[in-house]
Amino acid sequence: MDTQNVIFYLPSSIFVILAFFFLLLWRLGLSSSWQWAAGFAQTACGFALSSFPIEPTFDQFVSGVFYTGAAYCYGSAILIHFAENKWWPVRRPVAIGFMVPHTYLVLVEPSLRLDLFLIEMVFAFLLGFSVWKVAPKAKPAADLALVAAGALVVVDCLIRGILFTFVFRTSEAMSDFLHSAYNISVHVTTITVCLLFPFGAIAAMTAAAIDRHRHSAGRDPLTGLLNRRGFNAAVEGAGDAIGLSGAVVLCDIDHFKQINDTFGHATGDRVIVEVGNRLSQLQDDRMHIARFGGEEFVVFMDSAREDDAARWAERARRHLAASDWSAAGITGQVTASFGVAEMKRSLIDPAIERADRALYLAKVAGRDRVASASSLRSGQRDFVATTSDSAACSMNAPG
Ligand code: GH3
Ligand code: MG
Ligand code: MG
Repeated sequence: MDTQNVIFYLPSSIFVILAFFFLLLWRLGLSSSWQWAAGFAQTACGFALSSFPIEPTFDQFVSGVFYTGAAYCYGSAILIHFAENKWWPVRRPVAIGFMVPHTYLVLVEPSLRLDLFLIEMVFAFLLGFSVWKVAPKAKPAADLALVAAGALVVVDCLIRGILFTFVFRTSEAMSDFLHSAYNISVHVTTITVCLLFPFGAIAAMTAAAIDRHRHSAGRDPLTGLLNRRGFNAAVEGAGDAIGLSGAVVLCDIDHFKQINDTFGHATGDRVIVEVGNRLSQLQDDRMHIARFGGEEFVVFMDSAREDDAARWAERARRHLAASDWSAAGITGQVTASFGVAEMKRSLIDPAIERADRALYLAKVAGRDRVASASSLRSGQRDFVATTSDSAACSMNAPG
């Protein structure tokens, strides 16, 4: 191998490695789309045809198709990564329509210079359109890096296309192509600045995967609410060095075991989800709602007083008691009991314990009611803020 020609073998080798690497990422579920691997594989094939030429007309025609296919795949992969509309009515006609002038410039009225210009412009459009569409959504640093790297590739295509078509005027002879300034510039920019693009994609996908796992680690899979870990992290964020100030509300579905026994565990699950949804409907910005497990929910209300929390719990209690549960598969009423406790510059766990004691008393007092921890401290037994005259849970098996 002529050492001066090493540069011509580099892009195809690098892009083969990238294609396999992105294929692996996709198989591992870390890549947003298989189209990254397809894009890098097609780019590798395009470069391979200039390193290992077969027949000039064939090489020109097929490498143009590969580069356009690669740009289409990169554009799709970026749109998928950002969960953006795929814009098929715009992108597909350009990618397919490219074949008409490309065929004409290779087979009918051959012009290497105009064909290279066409390939560069279509590549710039297919990648640039996606980059433009997702740019407003790119907030995390890794996403910004991907968008910036994509934009750099687009600028590279535009500058080279314009310079070599209208300023330096690339030779029309395919035999001159390998060592042409145009081909050398393609290889040099590809193995330098354009490599920011795959690395930007890796960074963006890695950051997204970490975010997904961080998010699911803090979530209850059944209801989508915060779990204990997510709740603690969210609540810690609301506090300062001295501790938290606010109120805790515990909500426990009444006679839930009976719901499970009467309607089955799956219906029980739906009831848990629906109770979570109904509590969330009453959520405001200063609240964090969690399910730690079972049929019990925990709410932290930042800066709230016990009275505020008790009022909110009463609203929630009424909301649950007045709900129609037929969509969840329940005939009859579903109720819940609530325990409320306030904390002033303290930790959350002692407040949860006090709210739990209040909840216990709400249960023994007959359920479907709200009890506050302050009334426990004052030794009152008529602490119950609200009492429903109705039975705590009345239900009938379907049919
Ligand atoms: P109380 O009014 O005193 O709260 O009575 P309860 O029947 O609601 O309370 P208990 O603690 O006796 O029963 C809770 C039941 O919740 C027992 C358990 O099998 C069930 N359970 C716990 N987690 C889940 C779950 O994820 N899905 C379903 N369907 N049931 C669950
Ligand atoms: Mg219960
Ligand atoms: Mg319980």
